[in-house]
Amino acid sequence: MTTSQHVNLEQFIEGVIRRNPGETEFHQAVYEVAADIFDFIADKPIYHEAQILRRIAEPDRVISFRVCWEDDAGNVRVQRGYRVQNNNSIGPYKGGLRFHKSVNQSILKFLAFEQTFKNSLTGLPMGGGKGGSDFNPKGKSDHEIMRFCQSFMTELFRHVGEDTDVPAGDIGVGAREIGYMFGQYKRITNRYVGVLTGKGLEWGGSLVRKESTGYGVVYFLENMFKQDKGTIEGKVVAISGAGNVATHAAEKAIQLGAKVITLSDSTGFIHDPDGFNREKVQWVVDQKAHSRGSVADYVKVFPVASFHEGERPWGVKCDVAMPCATQNELSEDEAKILIKNGVKAIVEGANMPCSNDAIALFRDARILFGPAKAANAGGVAVSGLEMSQNSTRISLKEEELQGLLREIMENIHQNCLEFAVQADGYVDYAKGANIAGFKKVANAMLAFGIV
Ligand code: NDP
Repeated sequence: MTTSQHVNLEQFIEGVIRRNPGETEFHQAVYEVAADIFDFIADKPIYHEAQILRRIAEPDRVISFRVCWEDDAGNVRVQRGYRVQNNNSIGPYKGGLRFHKSVNQSILKFLAFEQTFKNSLTGLPMGGGKGGSDFNPKGKSDHEIMRFCQSFMTELFRHVGEDTDVPAGDIGVGAREIGYMFGQYKRITNRYVGVLTGKGLEWGGSLVRKESTGYGVVYFLENMFKQDKGTIEGKVVAISGAGNVATHAAEKAIQLGAKVITLSDSTGFIHDPDGFNREKVQWVVDQKAHSRGSVADYVKVFPVASFHEGERPWGVKCDVAMPCATQNELSEDEAKILIKNGVKAIVEGANMPCSNDAIALFRDARILFGPAKAANAGGVAVSGLEMSQNSTRISLKEEELQGLLREIMENIHQNCLEFAVQADGYVDYAKGANIAGFKKVANAMLAFGIV
């Protein structure tokens, strides 16, 4: 390896942008990680020479395919399906499937890249992948969803397997969609294996999987506060999103004594100054699950609350902000407002919800910041446990899994700490997560040689 191959951070990023034109979310995700990794490997030429970061930022494989299906009116519809297999150095590719109209290659490449570091942080043997489609499940009938899922799996089945690549759910993909896809996989291959996680309990799923991402986010926050000699109890929490992650994060935060005052969806946010309780969160869950309606109707049932159409909740004064909806939902300007309003901690439930500029402001202001790849890793961790249960054909009990989830989140927090503590005592979790996640994957890659 010649020294001319040792590029600096800016040259590295220029290369990523040149090789992946127009993929802005992917550039953003790589930049966020690369800045910390370049610092870490400055005095470790072995990683430079083997071009480790460059290789992690080049997916092993990007599979793209046509998905045809017929709607209820008999029209032929055509969607694009993807699976991005980013890196399998420490285990089979693992990561969710997203069905949303915004899905494109850039978004799935950013998610698969992030997933590689996240999975490494869990301590479980899982590589990073992500997939999905620009199929918009909103307003579709159950039969249309079924036909789409079957058609999607009719191609995907050749690229996945219990030891190759194990997808799960993500935005727009829950137990129903996993069921239709698993049914089709089984039908095509005649094999009953753990090829997907997030399955129903009657057919190979794991207890606690459904709750694990949201609960894990709150456990991570609890650990951050503990390290900072604080507590979650009594904190006012603003949450965005009204899906799986947001509602379970709300449930756990309330259980641990916090006051959750906002939830949101793509139509706007609800502000409930009295705070949500179990019943109110359940109303939101039912509203999204059964009627798939907007959260706007909440104020009809709980008139103390207000609905803010087309807005995000970051202008509401809070101690903790938990973005749990989607990428780039918390901007630099919104970060300034949160800081001005005295926010004490930000913890990412969604993937890459904060822009890089927003993260820089939080870090500069020395505010606790829990990055997604650490904070929301509880979901994939329990998916990893679902894989083990499928392999051994033994189901773990609820208490056992709840304990394991808590323990894994504590370990992830501890793994971050190794590289996170700064000279002035600030714990830079973003840096800690990036470096700890990188190191394990990088060392495995070194062991494999140039492949
Ligand atoms: P769901 O589909 O259950 O919920 C998504 C929520 O986000 C909905 O309330 C949705 O509103 C809202 N939302 C989606 N897109 C937008 C948008 N462009 N603008 C505003 N709101 C939007 O997804 P999950 O809860 O599973 O996932 C949420 C986030 O958490 C994603 O970033 C995902 O990658 C991440 N994540 C999920 C994991 C899991 O286990 N499920 C694991 C780790 C990370 P509406 O209903 O109106 O569309």
